[in-house]
Amino acid sequence: MTVAFRMSSLYVPTLKEDPTEAELASHRLLLRAGMIRKAASGIYSFLPLGLRSIAKIERIVREEMDAIGSQEVLLPIVQPAELWTESGRWDLYGPELARLKDRHGREFCLGPTHEEIITALVRSDVRSYRELPLSFYQINMKFRDEIRPRFGLLRGREFIMKDAYSFHTSQESLQEHYDAQAGAYGRICERLGLEYRPVVAESGQIGGKVTTEFMALAEAGEAELVHCTCGFAANVEAAETTVVRIPSITEAVSMEKRATPGLKTIADLAGAFGVSEHDTVKTMAGKTPEGTLVFFCVPGDRELNAVKAAWAVEGVELLDETDFEKYGIPKGSLGPVNTLPGTLVVADVCLKDDVAWAVGANEDGFHLFGALPGRDFEVGQWADLVVAAPGDRCPECGAVLEGARGIEVSQVFQLGTRYSEAMGATFSDENGEEQPFVMGCYGVGVSRSLAAVIEQYNDDAGIQWPVSIAPLEVAILPLMADGEVFEVAESLWKALGEAGVETVIDDRDERAGVKFNDADLIGWPFQVVVGKKGLAEGIVELKVRGSGERATLPVSEAAQKIVSMVESERARFV
Ligand code: ATP
Ligand code: MG
Repeated sequence: MTVAFRMSSLYVPTLKEDPTEAELASHRLLLRAGMIRKAASGIYSFLPLGLRSIAKIERIVREEMDAIGSQEVLLPIVQPAELWTESGRWDLYGPELARLKDRHGREFCLGPTHEEIITALVRSDVRSYRELPLSFYQINMKFRDEIRPRFGLLRGREFIMKDAYSFHTSQESLQEHYDAQAGAYGRICERLGLEYRPVVAESGQIGGKVTTEFMALAEAGEAELVHCTCGFAANVEAAETTVVRIPSITEAVSMEKRATPGLKTIADLAGAFGVSEHDTVKTMAGKTPEGTLVFFCVPGDRELNAVKAAWAVEGVELLDETDFEKYGIPKGSLGPVNTLPGTLVVADVCLKDDVAWAVGANEDGFHLFGALPGRDFEVGQWADLVVAAPGDRCPECGAVLEGARGIEVSQVFQLGTRYSEAMGATFSDENGEEQPFVMGCYGVGVSRSLAAVIEQYNDDAGIQWPVSIAPLEVAILPLMADGEVFEVAESLWKALGEAGVETVIDDRDERAGVKFNDADLIGWPFQVVVGKKGLAEGIVELKVRGSGERATLPVSEAAQKIVSMVESERARFV
């Protein structure tokens, strides 16, 4: 099929100025290159070039899903509330779920994800273990009324997702398909040209959930990661970690209460005590569902990880303002000494090496210096509690972890029987007994991936598309709108089109500078400049947008050379 466009008739409303609302490169460049337009906060229209790139991402995703035996379906965006009530998520989901009523007053929501719909579908049609396993995928719009939509396509409210769901008779069968999905997700990232890491997202410690996030590495990413040369990588929220701690207080001193009026931060406190922040211990309070107070102690320079806190003490939640009033404890001066009766003290394992602690005195305006576990207070439980950070030790090989930031482009997840049990979705096993389906779900952010690629592929002039998802592969830039220059350009354009290379000719009556700027802004991977001077020498000029390389090609060989360059570039992404 010939894909040959004329710039004069292609709808590409480029912008000369940076839009003020766009902080990130991908957001700015998608708008400036005329690929998307905002309709409302977090809601975008895709213009022809934007949609071409989206379609290419979708094609890659389809090929990889088909290759692992997942079958494409298309599920409704508008979903009946009853199914969400069955799964329990109608109440759990909160304001991110957009709810609406039809003319009869019946309640619906806009699908933020499709577990309920697909589980109901399989529940009604699949009876026997003989029909399993099954895996379905769709590529569809999702709606989530995000509290802070931002960064253009990176965090929209309406966005395109590929979501897949699988149904199995056993955990082993789920594991097999989960591994196949994870493999496909890695290949999708590679074919999009992304530098990425699969990361540990939540360990098996909560409810048997197994999950991996695929992170495109980018400074602009919202996720913080730690990774190691051994291949280990994790979201800091989920990473097990070993904090390297060299306490500077080395002798057991007697405990001393000091007035610390007006000291608000750990830094203030460390300064007042003449120690580093690292030597202080901060205490955060939580409560169990039964109402037991739990004090979590971590080094002053580290953050408590609420997920890990809940692993250590099941169901624990951190206190809010009214809880502090209710329990009558001073938020700014908590510590493990002289706690209310029944309080459980849980401390991060790295504090075991500390000889004496600098802690809050549980009294406003006072701290204790030299508090000693075992002598001045009891630690009820030692646990890994902190948010992992660069410099910590790798839980797998012990080497020093490095930090990075990432954009979550996709995630694979073992659901187990979470939905099938809640919704009564069962099959009959070999013995004729009803069993709940064992399920997995798998999501790729299609529109987010487009933006993630641009975050990794841009320079001051614009986008530098990997050829696999560039809206078009080659641009011909004739420096004159008529005469021999234009004729040569046009015949090259036709020849490339006929050879199956997606080509655009900039036939607009514009100055050379305008054409060059637009070409770099849009980021056509191969740009061919046809000018009078070159033609006098029998050559055209080729520029490779990504590397900035330039070459001169004899007019007679130009088409053939460009075709083979495009083909070898394409081959890097299959
Ligand atoms: P996040 O933590 O970034 O909010 P999530 O973990 O809630 O994302 P999932 O439910 O795992 O998202 O959805 C699967 C994929 O859909 C994500 O990996 C991401 O690529 C994409 N996605 C999720 N939310 C958005 C959004 N608001 N805008 C664009 N893409 C999104
Ligand atoms: Mg996710």
